[in-house]
Order: sequence, then structure tokens, then C-alpha cells
Amino acid sequence: MRLKNKVAIISGASRGIGREIAITFAREGAKLSLCATNQDLLNRVGDEIQSETGSKPLLFSFDVRDSKQVGEMVKKTLDTYSRIDILLNNAGITRDQILALMSEEDWDAVLSINLKSVFLFTKAVVKTMIRQKSGRIINMSSISGISGNAGQANYAASKAGVIAFTQSVAKELAKRNITVNAIAPGIIKTQMTEKLGEQILETFKQHIPLGRFGEPKDVAEVALFLASDEASYITGQVIRVDGGTNM
Ligand code: NAP
Repeated sequence: MRLKNKVAIISGASRGIGREIAITFAREGAKLSLCATNQDLLNRVGDEIQSETGSKPLLFSFDVRDSKQVGEMVKKTLDTYSRIDILLNNAGITRDQILALMSEEDWDAVLSINLKSVFLFTKAVVKTMIRQKSGRIINMSSISGISGNAGQANYAASKAGVIAFTQSVAKELAKRNITVNAIAPGIIKTQMTEKLGEQILETFKQHIPLGRFGEPKDVAEVALFLASDEASYITGQVIRVDGGTNM
């Protein structure tokens, strides 16, 4: 088991990529603390993990923009498991619209859920990781944050922010034996991309050299590697998981 007894916090674990990462980490022996807003879906993930591994994750239903609740989740995780080895900042949303029609509300929602929450969670765990003299922080970015995407000015800005945050914090924490990396997925089959519609998806597919969309498992395996001992000499990196898009 590659994460035996490691304690991992994962945001946005109720479905999609976050759910797959939670299940993958649990199978590798990690003790989990999961959050999302949808309590029912989160409970289902918790039950699934418990029936497969025998170990029940801690579950927290709240909005990741709420700094107080982020702090409480981190505290309860520490009270229960006495350490935090891995933070996976995965929660995210899209509110796609061309810039001319983009509302301030949609700008603020995307920036705060996708970027501010990464700051809130990282700040909340960092003292513990410094004390432990070890830690892994993995942030979910996107290829939109590397090259931009029409109709996603808010989303792309948030994901570019995640990359800059990752690199800055990686430089700050390297001396403390804490690695900080980002994953930049291309199009992965989840609810987030379902809403793009068949026609747009087909157009995107033509630009994917591997000729298929990614599965949540494709991303979860990279997250597992970055969280594992094998990745101890990798920090400040952005790993694309995009079937070769834009190579
Ligand atoms: P998804 O299926 O829509 O899942 C998003 C997750 O984030 C859900 O668990 C959702 O839970 C949670 N979440 C959203 N807003 C939240 C909030 N305010 N507070 C707490 N939790 C919240 O999306 P996904 O495709 O798995 O995406 C996961 C991450 O990968 C995101 O950061 C996304 O930007 C990134 N990504 C995805 C793709 C892709 O093609 N799918 C590509 C590049 C990057 P609740 O609804 O229960 O709150």
C-alpha cells in the first residue's frame, strides 16, 4: 500500500475527480477527511469507502469559501488522526460565459471557490506540516489555466492563479520538506464537462492526440503518485493529464 496510514484531506470529494481520488487513496491505505456541499453524495462516497476498506472517512458538508469551516475541518482531522500528510485541493466549479456577458457574481464565485479555497486550506494545514517536517500539497488546476480558453476567462484566471500559488508556496516550503504540485487535466469525463454538450466535446476531441477524453482514474493515478514516497523529489511542478493536447 502506497499511502498506508497517511492522513489526507480532499476537497470536492462528493463526485467526479475528487471522489475517484478519495477511493484511490483509501485503497492505498490512507485515512481520509473529505468535504463537499452535497451531504447525500458525500455520505455515499463515505459508505462506498467503508464497505471496501473497512475504514470510514471523516465527512464534512460545507462551502469551501467558508474559512471558519475550513479551519474546523482541519482541526477535527487533527484531533482524530493527530497528523495531516496530504492536502488535495480539488473542489472547483465552472460558470462559463463570454467576457462581454460574464457577471461579476460568476467571476467572484469561480475565483473564490477555485482559488481562494486553495489559499484557505493550505494556510490551515501548513503549520501542522511544518511541525511534522513533511507534507504533500496537490492543487487541481487545468490546461485552461496554462493556455486560456474562450468562454472561461473566470475559470482560466482561477486555474492560472492556482499554478502561480503552487509555485510560490513550493518555493516557500521546500526547505520544510513539503512538496507542492499542481495537476492540469484536459477534458475529463465528469458532470463538469457533461454540460458542455456533444457538439463542443466532439470539436475538442479532434485536438486530443490520444483520441479520447480522460477518465477520473487518469487524474487519480497522478495524484496518487504525487502523494506517494516515490514523488519526494518533485515540487513546484504542473503535471498535464490531457492526452497530449497542445504538445
Ligand atoms: P465535478 O464533477 O463538478 O465535481 C466538483 C466537486 O467540487 C464536487 O465534489 C463538488 O461537490 C465540489 N464543490 C464545488 N463547489 C464547492 C463548494 N463551494 N464547496 C465545496 N465543494 C464544492 O468536477 P470535476 O470534473 O470532478 O472537477 C474536479 C476538479 O478538477 C475541479 O477543480 C475542476 O476545475 C478540475 N478540472 C476538471 C476538468 C474536467 O474536465 N472535468 C478539467 C480540468 C480541471 P458539491 O457539489 O457536493 O459541493
